[in-house]
Amino acid sequence: MVKPRSPKGRAREVTARLAAEYPGTAKDLCALDHETPFQLLVATILSAQCTDERVNMVTPAVFARFPTPASLAEADPRQVEELIRPTGFFRNKTRSLIGMARATEDRFGGEVPSAIDDLTSLPGVGRKTANVIRGVAFGLPGLPVDTHVGRLSRRLGLTGATDPVKAELDLNALVPPAQRAAFSLRLILHGRRVCVARRPRCEACLLADFCPSAELPERAPAKAAAPAGRGGGAQRPSTTRASRRVAPARARSTA
Ligand code: SF4
Repeated sequence: MVKPRSPKGRAREVTARLAAEYPGTAKDLCALDHETPFQLLVATILSAQCTDERVNMVTPAVFARFPTPASLAEADPRQVEELIRPTGFFRNKTRSLIGMARATEDRFGGEVPSAIDDLTSLPGVGRKTANVIRGVAFGLPGLPVDTHVGRLSRRLGLTGATDPVKAELDLNALVPPAQRAAFSLRLILHGRRVCVARRPRCEACLLADFCPSAELPERAPAKAAAPAGRGGGAQRPSTTRASRRVAPARARSTA
C-alpha cells in the first residue's frame, strides 16, 4: 500500500481502517445507554470525570424518576444528588442537570435542540457534549474532541492543535460531515484499547505503517554511549530510525 503522505490522506485511511475494526453507526458505537436525545444529554453530563460503565449503572434510575425535561426541571436537588452521587461531582452535576432541563423546557418547548449554538447555551453543555448529542442522537455532523481524540489526532498528524475547538475545526476539514461522529467515537475506542496515553501499543496498531508517531523517540529514550572496553557493544536504541520518520511527517502535518 502507498502510504498516505498528507493529513487528508491519513484521515481517509484512518477512517477506513477504524471503520473496519470498530464497525457500526455512531449510535452503535456510543457507550452511554440511552433511548432519546434527552437521555443522552443527561448521560453525557453525568459522564464528566466518570466512566461510561458507572454512568450506565445510575441512569436507569434517573431516567425512570425523571423521564422528561419537565420532570427534571421540577426536581428536588437532594433527590437528584442521591441518585447521581456515584458519578462524582454530584452537586455540580445536579445543578447542570436541573438547569439544562429548565432551559430546555423554557426556551425550547421541552425538546432538546440540535443546533450547536442552542445546545451550548444550555447549562452544563459544552461544545464536546453538544457534538455528542448532534452526532449520536440526531445523526447530524458533530465531531466531539475529548482527550483521546485530541491525542490520537496529533499523533496521527491530523492536527497540531492542543485546543479542542481548533482541533475540531482541523478535523472537520479532513473528515466528511456524515462520518464525523463515528470517526470521533472510533478514535476514542482506539485510544482506550491501543493508542493509550502513556505507552501506545504501536506494535499492535493497525495504523502503525503510516502513523507519523509510531516509535516516537521519547518512548525509546536514548541511552548513554556504549561503554568502552570489554563487551562495549551495548545496543543502540531505535531512536535514529524513529527520528528520521517523525520529523518529515510532522512537517507535513503542519504545512
Ligand atoms: S502507531 Fe502508535 S502512536 Fe500511532 S496511532 Fe497507533 S498506537 Fe498510536
